[in-house]
Amino acid sequence: MKINEDKIDKLAHLAVKRGVGLQRGQNLLITAPIESLPLVRKIAEHAYKEGAHIVTPLFNDSDITLSRFRYAPDESFDNSTDWLFKGMGEAFDTNTARMAIAGDDPMLLSEMNPDKVSRANKAMAKAYKPARERITEFKINWNIVSWPGKAWAKRVFPELDTDEAVVKLADAIFDASRASVDDPVKAWDDHNEKLRIKTNWLNQQNFAALQYNGPNTNLRVGLADDHEWMGGASKAQNGIICNPNIPSEEVFTTPHAYKVEGTVVSTKPLSYQGTLIENIKVKFEKGKIVEASASKGEEVLQKVLKSDEGASRIGEVALVPHSSPISQSGIVFFNTLFDENASSHIALGQCYSKCFKSDFSKEEISKKGGNSSMIHIDWMIGSNEIDVDGIDHNENSVPVFRKGEWAN
Ligand code: ZN
Ligand code: ZN
Repeated sequence: MKINEDKIDKLAHLAVKRGVGLQRGQNLLITAPIESLPLVRKIAEHAYKEGAHIVTPLFNDSDITLSRFRYAPDESFDNSTDWLFKGMGEAFDTNTARMAIAGDDPMLLSEMNPDKVSRANKAMAKAYKPARERITEFKINWNIVSWPGKAWAKRVFPELDTDEAVVKLADAIFDASRASVDDPVKAWDDHNEKLRIKTNWLNQQNFAALQYNGPNTNLRVGLADDHEWMGGASKAQNGIICNPNIPSEEVFTTPHAYKVEGTVVSTKPLSYQGTLIENIKVKFEKGKIVEASASKGEEVLQKVLKSDEGASRIGEVALVPHSSPISQSGIVFFNTLFDENASSHIALGQCYSKCFKSDFSKEEISKKGGNSSMIHIDWMIGSNEIDVDGIDHNENSVPVFRKGEWAN
């Protein structure tokens, strides 16, 4: 069994044309697992055909990562490749587009020493700042697509042998990415239009808050002042329109970091840098998580919440109908890029400064309620049992979701 080569080519073409929206004369930086080489080669081919100047792939390898955790000296884990991320920041400042290929084993580090993992993550989050800031500020066009890595495929389909699991995950990725149809570019133009209708409606409503009700969930999420809903295609600060995530089914905005109240539970497992965190339950007071538990991975969750001051507040709220193709596939991908698009979600940590009516400074964004943190972790709170109401500035409520679907 082999991965369908025609679909690899279609996904690569889609990623270049509508994903990153590459323009003639741009450079393209691609970070990718070495296993995804067939896709990266196709992406480079399409990028050069679109007029890319230089395509630079940076590959990583799971076995080399594991060697570090097994054999590197203890001091290694407080270090990161600062020089590399500074270079990325510089590349983005000079209009280099960014593409990332996801495909690693979501549980890669689960057997490694949790203290080393958390120190390495922290050092990495700190060093990554120059690159992350330019991405969250949406300075340049960027995109993430996925490749069915062997270990990832075995996590998703443990009952199959490796080759079959890879092919099955490949098909699930192509379908979820709308890359299996005759004309994926047209399919994305239609999809983007549908998302735009929803974001326009939400922006007209200009709700003060969203109220979530469902089993074990009674949550009021205040929205940031001058927030703006976004989804699908959007324009980066360099003027280029791109679809950052493929797939993407969400519309999302910035909540108010100090106006979240109540309790909420996760509805799908969260795969966070090698650990699976399940059945998360948290309580918010004045925007801050004051109680948190999980049936699995609680130790990692507690560490994450203590990463910095903003890690126990939320920076994103996103609506995804339960009927989304990813949700309907019934597959748990153990990968946020897919699983967040199966379900409404919130994210701990950093807000998207782009989700505001104008380009505000960092200080203005934080005054308006935008959260800041070195983490941004989405977790799923939606299901077919959740109702969401929009609350306007006079405390009137308007149905937004009923039983996990758009109410209008
Ligand atoms: Zn999201
Ligand atoms: Zn997010």
